[in-house]
Amino acid sequence: MKEAAVAAVFAALRKHNPRPRTELRYGGPFELLVSVILSAQATDVSVNRATAELFRVANTPRAILDLGLAGLSGYIRSIGLYNTKARNIIATCELLLREHGGEVPADRESLERLPGVGRKTANVVLNTAFGQPTIAVDTHIFRVANRTGLAPGRNVLAVERKLLRVVPERFRMDAHHWLILHGRYTCTARAPRCGNCVIRAWCGWKGKAAVISGAAGTAKGAAGWGKVRGGAGRRYT
Ligand code: SF4
Repeated sequence: MKEAAVAAVFAALRKHNPRPRTELRYGGPFELLVSVILSAQATDVSVNRATAELFRVANTPRAILDLGLAGLSGYIRSIGLYNTKARNIIATCELLLREHGGEVPADRESLERLPGVGRKTANVVLNTAFGQPTIAVDTHIFRVANRTGLAPGRNVLAVERKLLRVVPERFRMDAHHWLILHGRYTCTARAPRCGNCVIRAWCGWKGKAAVISGAAGTAKGAAGWGKVRGGAGRRYT
């Protein structure tokens, strides 16, 4: 996608949603960190439902450790992979207390040393809690970047690097949330809503004309970008 088109895409996304925000409900970096760890392969709605109860009783590393593994598991049982996530959160709380005075560190290296935290989670925390212009690539952003031609890449790390290169600086802080919300609600995996899409003028996906004209019930080939491809040679969760 040409430079002017990339700028036009983000100008349109900004016009449509001037202040994009995460759909996770949190108060402060620690609650955000726990929520993002829980959100791997789970919906934000399911995470919010669990954390609404959990954070009422425990929203600090010390309080979560006081709950213990069984106590924490009881609050997050409805979320997929809860056993692994509970173990990671307990180990993360121990490390936060031991090495960071109970605070969430604001640097990538320290964040990625926390159990259950990979590059994607670190990117979300750095961006959303600490205001750094990082772009975490999840399944939605991977699909949108490839399908539209905005930042094609074979795996999530390649897409992240490309996005960081092509997204104009003035849009970089909010790019993650614009793209994730666009992928979640408009440029969906199986039935993209091209007729209602605010960036369709610049989108390079060949199937959009058929979707807009109604010639395709569900666009042929639309699901082709439905899955994140890893293979970046490192943890990206
Ligand atoms: S035109 Fe269709 S394929 Fe392109 S970004 Fe919009 S919804 Fe996605």
